[in-house]
Amino acid sequence: MAVIEVLVGHTSPETAHVTIDYPYGFRLRCQRREWLEYKPKKGYRFVTQTSNPKPGACWVPCGCTGGYVEVQGVQTVCVACHGNGLVEKHVWNAPKASVYVALAVLYLDEANHVQWDTLHIYATERDIDAFEAQYGPDFEGERERQILAWLRAVAQECEARKAKMARTASTAPLT
Ligand SMILES: [Zn+2]
Repeated sequence: MAVIEVLVGHTSPETAHVTIDYPYGFRLRCQRREWLEYKPKKGYRFVTQTSNPKPGACWVPCGCTGGYVEVQGVQTVCVACHGNGLVEKHVWNAPKASVYVALAVLYLDEANHVQWDTLHIYATERDIDAFEAQYGPDFEGERERQILAWLRAVAQECEARKAKMARTASTAPLT
């Protein structure tokens, strides 16, 4: 999947990215909000939450008169209900969360779908380089850079240990 746009700043239900038209079961459509949750010592996880699209669940009267509001003696169509007297109210279902990973980013693919990409603790330096090249310019703060540096140190240590084991094995006396 191609990375068309990296999504930043979606870290909670309040700041979530919202997919306006998302399938719900076989026939209904709903909204889905998506964000990346971060917890120290645990890492990142991808959280999604769908709205309840059942008829009647997400429309409430907006309270204006016949869909119109009066502004300085002039009747204009209510911006909340666009004239139909109802506003959309989202009843959100329970959120669903992935497992935690060391580092993650959200992005939109070519179909405008939200995807996420991850780095695990066992990422190799090649994985880390590729991830940094792809997403590094969009990192918001220092945290991602610190995690990348830490993952790189872990990967280098692991490589060094493997190399040492290989050397030891090749020089071991034959019995
Ligand atoms: Zn209204």
